[in-house]
Amino acid sequence: MSTEQNLFQAIISHCKEYGFIFPSSEIYDGLSAVYDYGQNGSELKKNIKDYWWKSMTQLHENIVGIDAAIFMHPTTWKASGHVDNFSDPMIDNKDSKKRYRVDHLIEGFAENLAKEQADELLATMDKLLAENDFAGLKSLIEEKKIACTVSGTVNWTDVRQFNLMFSTQLGSVTDEASEIYLRPETAQGIFVNFLNVQKTGRMKVPFGIAQIGKAFRNEIVARQFIFRMREFEQMEMQFFVRPGTQKEWYEKWKQTRMEWHLSLGIDPAKYRFKDHVKLAHYADAAVDIEFEFPIGFKEVEGIHSRTDFDLKQHQEFSRKKIQYFDTEINQNYVPYVIETSIGLDRMFLLVICNAYAEEQIGTEEKPDTRVVLRLPAKLAPTKLAILPLTKKDGLPELARELMDQCKPYFHCFYEEKDAIGKRYRRQDAIGTPFCVTIDHQTKEDGTVTVRHRDSMEQERIPMSEVRNLVMNAIF
Ligand code: ATP
Repeated sequence: MSTEQNLFQAIISHCKEYGFIFPSSEIYDGLSAVYDYGQNGSELKKNIKDYWWKSMTQLHENIVGIDAAIFMHPTTWKASGHVDNFSDPMIDNKDSKKRYRVDHLIEGFAENLAKEQADELLATMDKLLAENDFAGLKSLIEEKKIACTVSGTVNWTDVRQFNLMFSTQLGSVTDEASEIYLRPETAQGIFVNFLNVQKTGRMKVPFGIAQIGKAFRNEIVARQFIFRMREFEQMEMQFFVRPGTQKEWYEKWKQTRMEWHLSLGIDPAKYRFKDHVKLAHYADAAVDIEFEFPIGFKEVEGIHSRTDFDLKQHQEFSRKKIQYFDTEINQNYVPYVIETSIGLDRMFLLVICNAYAEEQIGTEEKPDTRVVLRLPAKLAPTKLAILPLTKKDGLPELARELMDQCKPYFHCFYEEKDAIGKRYRRQDAIGTPFCVTIDHQTKEDGTVTVRHRDSMEQERIPMSEVRNLVMNAIF
């Protein structure tokens, strides 16, 4: 059984062992903070994506989706402020040459303090960060004697800004004009398409544009598994509203997004809101939805009131009018924007952490343990495992019949090898909500044994009812 401390490590190992997540290019020893999703991971990730996409687009008549390119005109990033502002304060240890994000360094130190002292230190840090007081941050680090984890010394450089965007060259000529960026957020692809979508979709404010796609950040301290990656995926929605109504919509989206999280059946005590102390250059209000991971409460989603900053900037830099004519009030304006931005990989980690359980099962005489992923059925990579008890007596043929009935509707898995208990255990470990066993009685009366993952209870039902049982659980 894992302790609190090594629970996170156990989850990481589980993800690898059961084909959820592998380190990228592992045969070459991996690439730091880059990961690949395996056969079960890619299914789970796709199901999370679909669940978000459906709740945003299909269930909101005034939200539509787009899929913009990763490469964008380089001026996009000047207009958005990323060239000048998308940076984190960093500090280097002169002895080990190790570079730290200042907030991570101080937060790491605070973890080992008593609660009261830690809160005081973090409040001071937040204030200095909000004021961009780099000299103050350095003094704080020195005053508290916060040491480098490698060299153990307090020999620090000054605090400096470090831009997080990756750049590359477009075409074969290397000059400044051909330098382009890998997008650090998907939002700008939405802003530059505001008019295209509004006009072609005849959208009326308030309306939203949703997008799922890759984003890239040259994170300096990329650790904690898929919590902080250099290549990751975002699920973002920009909601365009009439100026003056942004506060109302901000509150509404705060609640709506929290409800989405809770709709997955996750314990509300594991969630909390955290208001931003330091607002980004474009925001007039911002809050994070935090989840209690085994490594503590951490951000999984941000809700930002982005004002009219982005559209106005693109209007100025492109010299094209980006406005909306509101027929209800007979006025032209640049809409205000409420953004909801969630990391798909972070949501994946949340779902796995929430689902992972090590359980004592069996009897007093014969104790046993199992690892089970209690995934919501709608997100589980495999919905149904079909298991003939033996490889003979016509049982595989019956099982194949059930496979053919079910596989056009949801993801099924067929297996005839090993003892049935072992097969159940393997399905528990990947979170399959239902296993069906086909045995000799099936031949006589057409019934099968359904075994439920969470309760491990078994019941006999007609084989013809299996498909509906699963369908009801996943919708
Ligand atoms: P953080 O403070 O953790 O760096 P952020 O506030 O910079 O995150 P946003 O720019 O608001 O994050 O991005 C929205 C969401 O994208 C975050 O809530 C998070 O879920 C996800 N995200 C951001 N950076 C990363 C990353 N490096 N790896 C994985 N997911 C990320």
